[in-house]
Amino acid sequence: MINIDQVNFENKRVVIRVDFNVPLDENFNITDDTRMRAALPTINKVLNDKGMVVLMSHLGRPKKNPDPKFSIKPIIAHLEELLGRKVAFADDCMKAADQVAAMKPGEVLMLENLRFYAEEEGKPRGIEKGEEGYDEAKKAIKASQKEFTKTLASYGEYYINDAFGTAHRAHASTALIADYFDADHKMFGFLMGKEVAAVNKVMNEIQHPFTAIMGGSKVSTKIDIIENLLTKVDNLIIGGGMTYTFMKALGGKIGNSICEDDKLDLALDILAKAKEKGVNLVLSIQTLAGNKFGEDSDIKIVDPMNIPDGWEGMDIGPATGELFAKVINGSKTILWNGPVGVFEFEKFTGGSRAVANAIVEATEKGAFSLIGGGDSVACINKFGLADKVSYVSTGGGALLEAIEGKELPGIAAIKK
Ligand code: AMP
Repeated sequence: MINIDQVNFENKRVVIRVDFNVPLDENFNITDDTRMRAALPTINKVLNDKGMVVLMSHLGRPKKNPDPKFSIKPIIAHLEELLGRKVAFADDCMKAADQVAAMKPGEVLMLENLRFYAEEEGKPRGIEKGEEGYDEAKKAIKASQKEFTKTLASYGEYYINDAFGTAHRAHASTALIADYFDADHKMFGFLMGKEVAAVNKVMNEIQHPFTAIMGGSKVSTKIDIIENLLTKVDNLIIGGGMTYTFMKALGGKIGNSICEDDKLDLALDILAKAKEKGVNLVLSIQTLAGNKFGEDSDIKIVDPMNIPDGWEGMDIGPATGELFAKVINGSKTILWNGPVGVFEFEKFTGGSRAVANAIVEATEKGAFSLIGGGDSVACINKFGLADKVSYVSTGGGALLEAIEGKELPGIAAIKK
């Protein structure tokens, strides 16, 4: 596998898969351009080398071709601003060959939304799995996907994947296309490289003690991650709404707290596995409860094993915050996924803030800290601490699958 730094792209056409799936308001204004800015180092590397950049991305979930609501065109002006140069647009990603052929060094061409074509995802449209004719439709789309992928590949002598956010999808532009390039002509972009390195630090090159903090609402959505982490971590801190499934499973009284009653056995199983593997599983010892799921709720500090009727656990209490902070502070590797309370309400941000502060402190002392996979990113941004931890991942689902221990197709395709 080659490194993007080792390549001089002078006079070369380079197809770059980026993740420009940015949120747009009803007037097609970009409300958060983080994903676009994250791809700039890679694009600029090729441009500074005097190469030619062909950008491709998906945007939203279009259902037909064309689907103007999901056109990439409205984001071109902002891309031009970010790059400080003109960006040409190909309004059909399958009909860009002439524009690509006419490109000169230093030029950028952005392709229209790849998902206008069902071939990008390789899933038939308008027919669901199990319905009559689905298998034939799937076969047909898989056959035409080859031509689609080949056409995209024909736009460049090099292929760079910098779209970590879609690395868990085996789509034409994220994985299949890599087969058309040999090992010297395909590589990760800078963003992808950083994401992969960060995942490696918590999955393979672990410095112990390793502490994972799992929060969020439900244990059911985190079970595969927890199972995989139990084979790697020294400490597993459980916070957030899933706390109360554990408390109830242990015989506690949880008031109105959220709970997955069908996962009580699973919670006990996790506790038993942690014990068997010698993992220190840390649960809440004090809860901040509310009597209403809202900003205007009253608050009360309670025992998580004995929450009064009419109250629900909305955040960890200060004593739990101190306990979690102590564990985090003694760690060399830290992974945080999911807020430990309903951080969207000011009264219940304290626990997540205590966790964030402890992670920052440990990072200052030399620990590696990775934050990612959903709402903990929003949390660390809200606290203004994103630049005080080692790495904040841009990939939601992709990061979660990586820490479940799965091989991501977008990464595997470059490595093979
Ligand atoms: P997830 O997407 O699984 O990471 O869940 C994130 C959500 O979990 C956030 O919206 C939090 O408000 C929510 N959450 C965290 N703690 C609790 C709690 N104690 N009760 C209900 N929801 C919670």
